Amino acid sequence: MLKCKSALNKSRLYGLDYTINPYFGCSHACIYCYVPSLIHVPYDEFKFPKPKINIVDVLRKELRKKKRGIVGISTATDAYQPLEKKYELTGGILKTILQYDFPIDIQTKSKLVLRDVGIIKKFSNAKVGITITTFNENIAKKWEVSAPSPYKRLDTAKKLAMQGIYTYIFFGPIFPLMNGNEIDYSIEEFIESGIDEIVVDKLHLKKEVVKNIKKFFPDEYKEIIKETNNFNKMLKKIEKFGNKITITKAWE
Ligand code: SF4
Repeated sequence: MLKCKSALNKSRLYGLDYTINPYFGCSHACIYCYVPSLIHVPYDEFKFPKPKINIVDVLRKELRKKKRGIVGISTATDAYQPLEKKYELTGGILKTILQYDFPIDIQTKSKLVLRDVGIIKKFSNAKVGITITTFNENIAKKWEVSAPSPYKRLDTAKKLAMQGIYTYIFFGPIFPLMNGNEIDYSIEEFIESGIDEIVVDKLHLKKEVVKNIKKFFPDEYKEIIKETNNFNKMLKKIEKFGNKITITKAWE
């Protein structure tokens, strides 16, 4: 368990004014996660998360003085990873922010977000993003070691959209060896699910990420790096669906 000094942090991410992360670390253990590299923590340590046990109290005090802005929930963790069932920190954060009705943007891979649909719907401005990076279950098991299966995530996105919540698929980092048919299949599944937007991202080759790819994909390593550097080719294939759904680049 940890005690935090601040809850809302100024965001450097596109489209967000603040970030809030109720856990330090993330048990989904995605090998492409660049957070460990950014905070200089080894991947093997980051995958054992700790709750920031006082975060709701700290947030309550901070909100009295903060200027209204968009809050990104779980930019460096997954706010609905299994620990949330026990600690309910994200639930507490939502109830607290709702008193000020700041716009929120939640990103997760977990169906546990459905628990909070009632609160999320009370916000004047709320978005939920569900991350899916491939539908190949064999790849996903190595790429996102302990995360829920891609089809379960798609089902979560579908349920959120059906509730009238603005829902996007965070399609990233797209597995770099995905072929044209797999890209078409993924986007068609996303559109079919009734979501509002697809946000695309590529793999970020940070130190811990490169180390993990060498370890988990030793045979494909070189090709993964090559295709990552060639991402524009993949982007063009995705952008051809722009007449059917809003497609946004995560870095713009
Ligand atoms: S869910 Fe997000 S924060 Fe958690 S390990 Fe995966 S990429 Fe990192």
